[in-house]
Order: sequence, then C-alpha cells, then structure tokens
Amino acid sequence: MSEGLATRCVHAGEIDDAHGSPHTPIYNTTTFKFPSTADLLDVVEGRKPGSLYTRYGLNPTIQALEAKLASLEGAEMAWAFCSGMAAEAALFFAHGRNGIVCLGDAYGGTLELLGSQVGMLGIRTHLLQASELDIAESRIQEGCGLVFLETPSNPTLEVQDIRAVADICHRHGALLAVDNTFASPVNQQPLALGADFVVHSATKFLGGHSDITAGVLAGRKELVAPVWNWRKNLGSMIAPETAALLSRSLRTLVVRVERQNRTAQAVAEAMARHGKVARVFYPGLPDYAGHQLAKAQMQGYGGMLTIEVTGGGEAATRAADRLRLFALAPSLGGAESLVTQPCTTTHHGLSPDERARRGISDAMLRLSVGLEDAADLIADLNQALA
Ligand code: PLP
Repeated sequence: MSEGLATRCVHAGEIDDAHGSPHTPIYNTTTFKFPSTADLLDVVEGRKPGSLYTRYGLNPTIQALEAKLASLEGAEMAWAFCSGMAAEAALFFAHGRNGIVCLGDAYGGTLELLGSQVGMLGIRTHLLQASELDIAESRIQEGCGLVFLETPSNPTLEVQDIRAVADICHRHGALLAVDNTFASPVNQQPLALGADFVVHSATKFLGGHSDITAGVLAGRKELVAPVWNWRKNLGSMIAPETAALLSRSLRTLVVRVERQNRTAQAVAEAMARHGKVARVFYPGLPDYAGHQLAKAQMQGYGGMLTIEVTGGGEAATRAADRLRLFALAPSLGGAESLVTQPCTTTHHGLSPDERARRGISDAMLRLSVGLEDAADLIADLNQALA
C-alpha cells in the first residue's frame, strides 16, 4: 500500500503467466484440473490456494482482479460480482439479517430491494433520510446490525459524513457499508474514514466504458470472507472475460476520473450561471450544501451532477430529448456523457410521494460527464436548454 493509487491501478494484483504477459491472461475456463485427488482436496479443504471452479471465484483472472480491487480500496479483501446489485444482495444476506438501515438517498434499485423485497424474507429494513441520524441510532440500539449509505448520492449528490455515521454504528456494534460508486476510490476511501464495507457498481466509473456489468464488495477479511458462500450459492460470480475487462479499465481509472472531475466542475459552474437552470447539485460548487463536508472527506468531487431546469418535468424531458452529445441512457461513469431524468429511470420504481419526500423532482436531469471536451458538453447543454 505504500505505492500511489495510479501505480496500484496499473500493477496491483497482476500475475505473471508462463509466457511473460504484462497483464493477467483470461482463464476462460469453468473448471481446473488436478494431478491427484490429494491435490484437489488440498484446495477444496482450504489447505492450499488454487484454482478450482469459476463460479466459486477460484479462477486466476478473477483472483487477480480482486487483489487489484482490494488494493485500490485499501481493503484486506475484495470480492467481484456479476453486478452492483449482486454485491449488495450478498452483503444484505450475509450481514443484514438483524435489520438494515438505509440512510439517505440511494440508487433506486437499492431502495426497491430494501424497501419491498428483502422485507419479504423477514428482514427488517428502515429507509431513512440522511437527516434522521437519531432514528438510525435508535434502530441500531434496538439491534439493527447494518447501515448502508451512498455518498455522494443518487441523484441529489447529497454528501454524508462517513466518519460520523461509522462512529455511531461502532458505538452500538453495527457495521457501516458505503456505496462508493459515484466517487470511486480516486475521490473517496470510505474504509479509511471508518466504514466496514465498500460497495461498487463497477458497471460505472470502475468499468468506465459502458461495456461491462459488474460489482464489488471490499473490507476487512473477517467481514468480507463470510460473504463468499453467499456469492457462491447465489451464483452471482463475475465472468472471467468481464473480470479481465474490468482489470483493463482499472489501469486508467485515475486519469479518467481526474479528467471527469475537472470537466464536471466546468459544466456545473456553467449550469449554475444558466438562466434556465433553477438549481445545480454538485459538491464542487462552493455554495452547495455538502461542499465543506465533501472538501474534508473527498479528494475530488466526481463526474456526476444533477440540474433542475426551470419549467418543470416537461421542460426537463424536452431538454433531455434535445441533447446530442449527452446520450439519453440510465447509467453513468463511462467515457461517453449520459443524461437521465431520474423520475423516468433510476427512481421510476418509487411512488411520486416517495420521490417528493426524497427531494427528487420531475425537473431534475442527472448528468454523467464523460471524457469529451468540456466546451462541447456545455455547448450541447446550452442548445438543449435554449
Ligand atoms: N449503486 C449505484 C450508485 C448505482 O448507480 C447502481 C446502478 O445504477 C447500482 C448500485 C447497481 O449497480 P448495477 O447496475 O451494476 O447492478
């Protein structure tokens, strides 16, 4: 861990193969053979490390990726998954059985899983606003064992104090998981701030090219190791080809995210001056509510921002439909800029009342800033809003 993040992005976890490849090759096999039953049992019974069966994660391409991911998050251990939701589900099953608090805004799929599905299995869930820390503390005191939060959040870029929430959790024996998807390890290290788990939709900035679906869970070994069996038996393993693509993407993570930080800042500043924009949600703007906290706990403000256009939901839809460089698509973190109206996509599954309670208006457009020139993106927004 003494090397810098950009160095670890390139080198961490990579394993040599017999032919001297600089990157871990793709072991595109489902199973691995052994010279004898005794050798096989050494791996099956955990006496020796080794490759065994890809769905278990015992595949060198996947293990190399996981070593890189653990290094980037400053974690003892990381598991890769076939999606961000698969990582969340395995975490909830493994560590959420005594109840889960979701604090603040989160991705709509997370809210749906916790709000209407996990409860069917008899697990108590509490979806609270970020300001309801006192209620969260009461739920934890009643025995709720896992707190989940996303910062900056989806889609209002709300910033929560990771260290303060971790302190409350730990005072009462609960664990804190932070969805670090919007920030990436370039901009924020939740484990160093006291969180117990980091979760990612690696589909976003980690993957970075809108061409893979993957997830990550990282943290201390004693906490992450028990999730292995859940991943194994839920069958939510990443494919070796996807693992290799994700490793490829991680090598350029720092250059991509630092550029996205700069471009998003320029776009946010231009939108803050725009007459047709009522509000800009971006932690890098000095007058933004979460700015001071973001400045203290983040190294960069990220490539995501949300604007609220004047004229309501229909005006927002018209602007989204007129954008040319920003593609109308419900994802984020890729090389290409994307726009989405949360009420039609990411938060469409929530009732209008629930969206209103969370401050998610129909007039919001969430922008994922890609790797294009800032001036071209601003010009595109100007023509769409004109
Ligand atoms: N977390 C955040 C912040 C997201 O934006 C998403 C998806 O958009 C997820 C988790 C779920 O990830 P995936 O789509 O890879 O399952």
